Amino acid sequence: MPGSESIHSLYQVWVYTMQYLQDNYDISEAAIDMWIGSLSLKTIDNGIVHLEVNTDFQKNIIEQQYGERLRESFSHVLGFDVRLNIISTERKPVIEPAPADDNFGSDYFFNRTAETGEYTFANFIVGASNRFAHAASISVATQPAGHYNPLFIYGGSGLGKTHLLYAICASIREKNPQFRVLYTKCEEMTNDFIKALGNGTIDEFRKQYRQADILLVDDIQFLAGKKQTQEEFFHTFDYLHNAGRQIVLTSDRPPREIATLEDRLRGRFEMGLLADIQPPDLETRIAIIKRKAYLLHMHIDDNVCEYIATQRKTNVRQLEGVVKTMHAQYLIGGNSPTLSTAQNAIRDIRTNIQSTPITIDRIISEVSRTFNVTVEDILSKSRTSQIARARQVAFFVVRSITRLPQEQIGQKFGGFDHSTVLYSLRRVDEMMQTDPSFRDTVNDIIKNLSE
Ligand code: ADP
Ligand code: MG
Repeated sequence: MPGSESIHSLYQVWVYTMQYLQDNYDISEAAIDMWIGSLSLKTIDNGIVHLEVNTDFQKNIIEQQYGERLRESFSHVLGFDVRLNIISTERKPVIEPAPADDNFGSDYFFNRTAETGEYTFANFIVGASNRFAHAASISVATQPAGHYNPLFIYGGSGLGKTHLLYAICASIREKNPQFRVLYTKCEEMTNDFIKALGNGTIDEFRKQYRQADILLVDDIQFLAGKKQTQEEFFHTFDYLHNAGRQIVLTSDRPPREIATLEDRLRGRFEMGLLADIQPPDLETRIAIIKRKAYLLHMHIDDNVCEYIATQRKTNVRQLEGVVKTMHAQYLIGGNSPTLSTAQNAIRDIRTNIQSTPITIDRIISEVSRTFNVTVEDILSKSRTSQIARARQVAFFVVRSITRLPQEQIGQKFGGFDHSTVLYSLRRVDEMMQTDPSFRDTVNDIIKNLSE
C-alpha cells in the first residue's frame, strides 16, 4: 500500500498530466472524460506508469487512440521517458493454481527445464540494454498474471532471453511450488502438436498445455508460417489468458516482424507488455565476463576482461564461450588467464562461428514442421500435394542457404534426380512471385534457420 504522501504525489502527477494533455493536444473534453478519465493511476516504478481501467474495451481504445499522447504527457510531466502499462481489471488479475488432475503427473511440467542451473536472476547482470526486460521478468515471477500478460521478450541471439525465462521458472518454483510451470521451446511445442495430430491425441495435447499456471514458450518466432500450430496456439493462449494464467514468450524479433503470423495472434502477443533486449554496453559486458569467470571459480584480471569485452560486442553467448575456453585451457594446460590466452580463445570462437553450417537435417526438420508433415514424408517419394510442396520448399531452402548443386541436393534427400530438384526450385520460385503469403512463409523459414 502506498503511503498517504505517495498517493498525494501520484494524484499531482495525474492532475498535471491531464492538464498537459488538454493544453497540448487537440482532444475534446468529452473524449478526455469518457476515455482517459476512466483510468486510474496505480504506481510509477522503473520507468513504467501502471494504470488501471475497468474493461478491455476501454483499454483498447485508450491504447490505440491516445496511448502515445498519454505517454508523452506523462514523460513530460515526470521529466523522464516512461512506458505505459494499462491493465484492464475485467479479468481476474492474480492466478490461483488450477485444480490438479491425477491422470497427469506434474513431472511433465518440469522435465523440460528441470535444470535451470545457473540461469537465475542472481546471475543475470543488469544494464541499460536489458533493464526493462529484467524488471518485467521479476515482476512476472513475483506476481504471475498480475501486471503483464503476456510478457513478450524479444532481442537478438545470445542476449539472455532464455536465461530470463529460466530465471522466472526457477524463481516461481522456489516461491510458489504449487504453481505448474510449463517451459517449452516453440519447436518442441510444434513437434508435440504434429505428433498429437498424427496420433489422434489432440485432446491430451490440449489438456497438457492448458493445465499450466504459467506457460513459457521460448523462440516463438518459430511459429512463423506454421498455420495449424498457430491456430491451435491461439486457442491455448486465449484459454490460459482468460483463465488468468501467466504467459511469457520470447522471440528474436517483435511480433510485427514475424511476417507469417496471423493478425489475431499478433494482436494477442502485443496486448501485454513488449520488452526488448539490446546488445549490452561495455560495462555490462565486462560485468558479465566477471560473473561467468566467478561461476567457474576463476579470476580474470580487469584489463583482460576489458580486452575480451571490446572484442565481442553483440552476443553474450560468445563472451561466455571465450571465458569457458580460457577455463578449459587453465584446467588442461595449466595456463592461467592472461591477455594472450584470451586472444587465443577469441580466435577459436571466431573460427567456430564461421564453421558452424546449417545442416540439411535442420532445414528438413524446420520445413517439415512448417508444413505439418514428418521428416520421413519429405524424404519419401510420396506425391501427396502437401508433402510434395514441403519437399519442394526444402529443396529450395537448401539451395538458397547452401548453394549446393542440384545433383547433390537430390542425393542428400535420398536420391531424387537432378531434374526433379530443378523443377522444384523453379516451381517454388514462381509461386513466390505470385503468392505473397507463400513467399513470406519461405522467407520466414530461411530467417528462422539463419538465427
Ligand atoms: P538467447 O536466448 O537470447 O539467445 P541466452 O539466454 O541463451 O540467449 O544467453 C546466452 C548466454 O549468455 C547464456 O549463457 C546466458 O547466461 C548469458 N547471458 C546473456 N545475458 C546475460 C546477462 N545479462 N547476464 C549474465 N549472463 C547473460
Ligand atoms: Mg534462447
